[in-house]
Amino acid sequence: MAGRVFADRVGWLADLVRGMADGVIAAHWSDADLAVFGGGVGVDGRRLPSSGWMALRRLGWGAVAPAGVVVSDRVRRIAEEEAARALRLGCHRRAVVAALLATWPADPFARTGEEWSALRAQLPEGTDNATIRNRTRQITAYLGRHGRLPVDLCELEGPPVVARQVSLAAADRQQVVVDRVDDRIVRVWSQLPMCAAPASYRDWVWHAFDLVLPAPVPARVKVCSPTLRPRDGKVRVDLPWQTPRTPPPVDGHARALGVDWGVNTLLTATVADLEEGSVVVRGRPLRFDATGVSAKLVRLRRHREHLHTKADHLARLRDGRPTHVPADPELTAKLAVLEAEHSAVCARIRHLNKALAWSAARWLVDHATAVGATAIYVEDLATLEAGGRSRSLNRRLSGAVRGTVFTAIAHLAAKAGIAVVTVPARGTSSGCPRCGAVVKHVKTPQGRVAGCRWATCSCGLSLDRDHAAAQRIAARGLANQAKTRRDRNGNTAIRTATDTPVRRRPRRPTPTATIRPVRDRRKTAPTPRQVRPATVKTSRLLPLRRQVPAPAEPPPGTAGKRPAGRTPQETQPSGPVRQVPHTVPTTAQRHPHRVRGAVLGRGFHRHVRATPITHRDGSTGRESGSLRIT
Ligand SMILES: [Zn+2]
Repeated sequence: MAGRVFADRVGWLADLVRGMADGVIAAHWSDADLAVFGGGVGVDGRRLPSSGWMALRRLGWGAVAPAGVVVSDRVRRIAEEEAARALRLGCHRRAVVAALLATWPADPFARTGEEWSALRAQLPEGTDNATIRNRTRQITAYLGRHGRLPVDLCELEGPPVVARQVSLAAADRQQVVVDRVDDRIVRVWSQLPMCAAPASYRDWVWHAFDLVLPAPVPARVKVCSPTLRPRDGKVRVDLPWQTPRTPPPVDGHARALGVDWGVNTLLTATVADLEEGSVVVRGRPLRFDATGVSAKLVRLRRHREHLHTKADHLARLRDGRPTHVPADPELTAKLAVLEAEHSAVCARIRHLNKALAWSAARWLVDHATAVGATAIYVEDLATLEAGGRSRSLNRRLSGAVRGTVFTAIAHLAAKAGIAVVTVPARGTSSGCPRCGAVVKHVKTPQGRVAGCRWATCSCGLSLDRDHAAAQRIAARGLANQAKTRRDRNGNTAIRTATDTPVRRRPRRPTPTATIRPVRDRRKTAPTPRQVRPATVKTSRLLPLRRQVPAPAEPPPGTAGKRPAGRTPQETQPSGPVRQVPHTVPTTAQRHPHRVRGAVLGRGFHRHVRATPITHRDGSTGRESGSLRIT
């Protein structure tokens, strides 16, 4: 069967499902019905089933096929599942909007401390600041249009539209069968309609299609029912697979990483040990500095806003003309170009955010594995106060990126058997990790960069403020392990914590110290100001690019200056390849892309500065250590 025909049939099924799901949502898009569905108790007083389609049937909100169309009960189930998922998301949004409306402040964009506390008390658990900000904007816009606050979510926005997809997971063997052919091929059988509006069961026919599993899927895992997403004459298949996993223990950790969402860097981490009840930290921070990528994102967002404004203006021109005047083809064409460009920039931002988030998470989990840490302590994003500190964070990276970083860390750490535990964010950067007193934030000793990025304390602490915060987070986590709780979604968190002072590990002599004298790097005085050529103009947002001179003799066949960037000689150092002494491959050798992922001079990695990963046997992912490529 031709792929096009198959895509059409899957498309007809998806349209049937979407039509029925939209019907269910539209019929129950009211505050009262959302309250009933969100309450989780049926009319008979029994708890609603956890499965979405069953819950809807218990409430008597089942999907109805269009007149003259015959669909099986399984297809109705799929539609009900889609509707239930959309309504559940609606219930969450309803709770967020209700909390915002109940505590609507005098100035919605500058809430006071009390207003924040009142809001936090009413919000559903785990609401992040990006959601609060976006919903606040939405309500403010409504206020501007109508001159009053909306009553509830359903007045603020219309019913959601479900995606054009078929989640076969909601059906059973009468609609879908998944067979394993061999290690790499899965055969899926599914009933599909032969026309857009099947009039009887004769119009439904079983179809089989083979899926080739991509290489990262291990052999012999359990493959679940797929979701089919028809689009542009093709069918995309989301195929979940299950592999058994035992969650790592929540306590009993002796070594952990404390991670701060940095002001200066995306992630700043520190290695901490629990020794006889006290927390000992190492002097060296681990940093993932994405200033270059952030600058790119800032530029892209600015460009997106610019395109949006232009398109908006043209759309007003097009819609503003009287009805009897024909549309200007030039204007329409221009608008189409602008809209295409806008969506391309949006996609670019989305991909860059995603790549950055996963690369940062990969780097962090590799560090944890390399030092033998069994837990990663992170600030709880939901409790990060939207104050002065977060504002400067937001300028750099949106809360959505941090959310993705967190999800990625949790995912990768779970695979590595490392626990990820959130700790309360309150006071992590304002308190001294060593004595607990309030620290002073001052300019860096170099004084080159704007903002107060250095923390000093009367006890003698003088540290990068993100590093100090990471130490405090690690201490909070390690010292309060007994209070770690796992919620029903499997997320582990410490809700209330007491702070423990950290000790610094005494410097131990490195083996190289006996061979050659090592500069005393102890911090006794401010680092001297680095001398840079006066002609290089630097900006806070732009990465410092090294100026590469053109080669003295251009290679034959090329004319003019070669573009700035690293020379091929720098990428691949000349000379004999170093022999690796041991025979057991290291992680770096088995997964070169993984360990070296954050240090490759490719794509945006060129703009990321990250502490290289050193394995316990002393090897690094990249021998030359040429990480500081800016
Ligand atoms: Zn102190």
